[in-house]
Amino acid sequence: MRVLVIEDEHKIARALKRALEQEHHAVDVCYDGDEGYAMATTEPYDIAIVDRMLPGEYDGVDIIKQMRSQGIHTPVLMLTALSTVRDRTDGLDSGADDYLTKPFAIEELLARVRALRRRQPASHTSVLKADDLKLDLNNLHVSRAGQTIELTSKEFALLEYLLRNQGRPLSKDKIIAHVWDYDADILPNTVEVYIKYLRTKLDEGFDRPLIKTVRGFGYKIEGQ
Ligand code: CA
Repeated sequence: MRVLVIEDEHKIARALKRALEQEHHAVDVCYDGDEGYAMATTEPYDIAIVDRMLPGEYDGVDIIKQMRSQGIHTPVLMLTALSTVRDRTDGLDSGADDYLTKPFAIEELLARVRALRRRQPASHTSVLKADDLKLDLNNLHVSRAGQTIELTSKEFALLEYLLRNQGRPLSKDKIIAHVWDYDADILPNTVEVYIKYLRTKLDEGFDRPLIKTVRGFGYKIEGQ
């Protein structure tokens, strides 16, 4: 998944990016409210983690209110150093889906992110499947016909995105927007290269290939 982190404390932002990347997410970090607002309202994210107090014209509450008023329903986890009931309700009233008070353990934040991810459509289950292929989001385990398949972080993220949209053709641009972060070096054939890696690992040696090319458009994964 592609995750946006808006947090002006660099140390926390770095720790979040590192932890989320270990869970195979593509992570963009913004350090102030204005850049955060711009990214949150123009780029497609699957989850946003937004600090409440931010330098710049927009604070966390403003950003979330703007997202919601523009019809952007990306699940948002709000972070804050404030912990009165009023602060919590303000955060939730602005449209945040969950709320975490600083200081927090990274493990708790990751658990909240997983919970938000489960709330999204087509992701109520934590195991995504196509035929005999299984991707378990809890332990990041992938297998086909019971055999473990080792994937790199990017391959995992790409497979997760294909599985979440099973049967639906996805353009290369859309794949890039959800699987790679904003600063990533993308070459014209980046998606093709990673699809090839996935095919080698998932489809080779099986009668029925799961990853299909949609000519002139992109790719899809399809079970029977
Ligand atoms: Ca702050």
